[in-house]
Amino acid sequence: MIPDSSSLLTFVQGFVAQALSYFVVVGLIYLAIWKWGEQRFRGARVQAKRRVDGKQIRFEVKNTLIVLLAGIPLTFVISWLYASGAAKLTLDASSIGWPTIVATFVGLLIFNDAWFYFWHRLLHHPKLFRLVHSVHHKSVDVNPFSSYSFHWFEGMILGAWVLPMVLLVPIYIPMLGVLHGIGLANNVMSHLGYEFLPKGLLRVPLLRWMNTSTFHNLHHTSSRGNYALMFRFWDRLLGTELPNYEATFLERGAALQTAPQTDKAPT
Ligand SMILES: [Zn+2]
Ligand SMILES: [Zn+2]
Repeated sequence: MIPDSSSLLTFVQGFVAQALSYFVVVGLIYLAIWKWGEQRFRGARVQAKRRVDGKQIRFEVKNTLIVLLAGIPLTFVISWLYASGAAKLTLDASSIGWPTIVATFVGLLIFNDAWFYFWHRLLHHPKLFRLVHSVHHKSVDVNPFSSYSFHWFEGMILGAWVLPMVLLVPIYIPMLGVLHGIGLANNVMSHLGYEFLPKGLLRVPLLRWMNTSTFHNLHHTSSRGNYALMFRFWDRLLGTELPNYEATFLERGAALQTAPQTDKAPT
């Protein structure tokens, strides 16, 4: 599979557009909350102490650009599978029907969540942590720019969940775009550094199982536990949820401070 020059140009344009739109969105969220809203939203801070500096953000921007570049081969492979007819992707909703589209939407959301949880736990193996996942954990006081600050290998692995799915499951292409948007929003929310969800969330039967900014923030300060992406149930089921999660979610701004992350691999 050797891409010709016009498809290469299309991918380069796609990369530039994706990177620009990502940094505009994330930059505006950062400005609105971390800069202009610093005083107004002080009570919503998850960590009491502010540790983000220019060096951290430059590091996160650099890693994000690398991760976006590392995502290009996956896009190539999926485009090629689509063009060759091997992928079960379609733009024709009527060919699979809306009940199937809704069912695959829910199924893919759950599959992506499980893929992330188990890979994330594996990435906390001491060797993999040191080689790969420590890049993401360099960010302790997480902010919107931390959202895609990964080692390139981790970026590829976490994005690869879609590959077996396009071969096995009939997928309506715009739905993949919606899933991508949900993934992006969830990632930025997880690394917001502020908790804006109401405290009553923990009393709402289904919604209480969703991930929150506090949930993932505690993963960065503790460097263990709370491995989930979108839902808490894997952590609850397998006993990896941090016991102080609900109390910290309710406290806001009073999260226990832990020592800054070192390269020591957590288990
Ligand atoms: Zn981690
Ligand atoms: Zn994170």
